[in-house]
Amino acid sequence: MKNRSTLRVAGKAVPVSNLDKVYYPRARFTKGDVLNYYIQIAPYVLPHLKQRPLTMKRYPNGVDAPFFYEKQCPRPHPAFVKTFRMARQHEPGNVDYCLVNNLPTLVWAANLGDLELHAFLSRAPRVEQPTQIVFDLDPGAPANAVQCAQVALWLREMFGNLGLETFVKSSGSKGTQVYIPLNTKTSYDETSPFAKAVAQTLEKAHPELVVSDMKKRLRKGKVLVYWSQNSETKTTVSVYSLRAQERPWVSMPLEWSEVENCLRKKDATLVFFEANDALERLEKKGDLFAPVLTLKQSLKKALSHFHSADSGKKSKAPRKKSPGDPMSAYRAKRDFAQTSEPAGKNGAGRGKPLFVIQKHDASHLHYDFRLEIDGVLKSWAVPKGPPTDLETKRLAMMVEDHPYDYARFEGTISPGNYGAGTVMVWDIGTWKNLGPEPEEGLKSGKLHFELHGKKLRGEWALVKMHGLHSGKGNEWLLLKHGRAMKPVSVKQDDTSALSGHRMTQIDNPHSRKWISRHKSNGTAKKNGHKGGVPSATR
Ligand code: MN
Repeated sequence: MKNRSTLRVAGKAVPVSNLDKVYYPRARFTKGDVLNYYIQIAPYVLPHLKQRPLTMKRYPNGVDAPFFYEKQCPRPHPAFVKTFRMARQHEPGNVDYCLVNNLPTLVWAANLGDLELHAFLSRAPRVEQPTQIVFDLDPGAPANAVQCAQVALWLREMFGNLGLETFVKSSGSKGTQVYIPLNTKTSYDETSPFAKAVAQTLEKAHPELVVSDMKKRLRKGKVLVYWSQNSETKTTVSVYSLRAQERPWVSMPLEWSEVENCLRKKDATLVFFEANDALERLEKKGDLFAPVLTLKQSLKKALSHFHSADSGKKSKAPRKKSPGDPMSAYRAKRDFAQTSEPAGKNGAGRGKPLFVIQKHDASHLHYDFRLEIDGVLKSWAVPKGPPTDLETKRLAMMVEDHPYDYARFEGTISPGNYGAGTVMVWDIGTWKNLGPEPEEGLKSGKLHFELHGKKLRGEWALVKMHGLHSGKGNEWLLLKHGRAMKPVSVKQDDTSALSGHRMTQIDNPHSRKWISRHKSNGTAKKNGHKGGVPSATR
């Protein structure tokens, strides 16, 4: 109710509110200033956002208050907001992404506190075809934009030798991003392994300054060449987007001479631009990133170069497999959280392998069925949960591997994040393989096993679907084998096998903190009281 008004932009009425709310306290930059910035920058930023599915990063109460990511375009939204529907990656259901195709949509998004605009590298409807490659150079302190400048210049040189022109911008946060415009026929199956090979090559050449994988503890004083944003549904902060930092910095295109200057003078501040500088600079220099939208470049030559450098005599290794290697993704995660995990690197020697079923009240309620195989939790999302009789077949969508210690995760994933909603450990125990080796079973698409849980005991099988209805190839069926069991009672269904809590008792840790700070005893009513949830989300 507070401070609501309507802004008339490009012939549309856009409802706005609380324009005097301070969004960047250290710069006294208000929400009104944010809207004003986006209105003025619109002619430059809109061409870069057009038809690119957007993930919002919303700060409805400014940069010092909680934020959340939002892939699903908030509903209801005005008719001028266009959306693009995509199937969810790891769960059943769809996401309707916002497309920021016009000024009213840009203002509408900014009014929702979407300070940062994170967009696809591809355009709808051809979302499988990236129009550009990005390398996100992320410095680990004490490294900063100066070290990023060095790495960016190495990348430019490397691509220059391959006949590819590159463009660079400040991320507006800590680092720098290097872009290769493509605008030709390609796919993520091509760009993603290419980007990875580039990052690894650079790491080999400059191990003192460059890392190519995510393990944070390896990054002190180094620059992470983050390549894995080059995949479908991953987003990167758009050029000219504000960043939710201490000051309203902008992700700003740079001239290569400015990057050289930053390195020569060892002055990181040379590549930071605030909203006001950005507008002034654009008037002088125009859109330095305009060629990223139009320049047609092919990866062909570069690909063959990296292929021969990479694989030597082995010649055509199946390139498609490498970027998505489930074990490597797992290892990255697992090392990251090493301290909290038991010894026994891959589950061997720790006794029987674990199984867990997590009830997950996400956009669609489902049960995540996980089997420990080779130290990771192989995972399937089962919308209707495991069957208890011999006739019922339950759809089980194979999703990405989860780290071992995810098995005991119970809590609430806050709104806007991937898989937002409550997670309960519905059942946990050990499993025994009854078929051939589980690794074989995964390949052949048939796993037969016994579960020894608190609720589920007996034989089940997972069978991969083939043919007409197999969709993306991740659809399996979960079946009861052996003998039927008594169905799980409603009460049991709503009781955690780990904590004994009901779904509604599994609280958001943030709201719990909020309550304890206010010296409430644990019995305070928690009916939807989530500290800091802004009115804009309702
Ligand atoms: Mn889930």
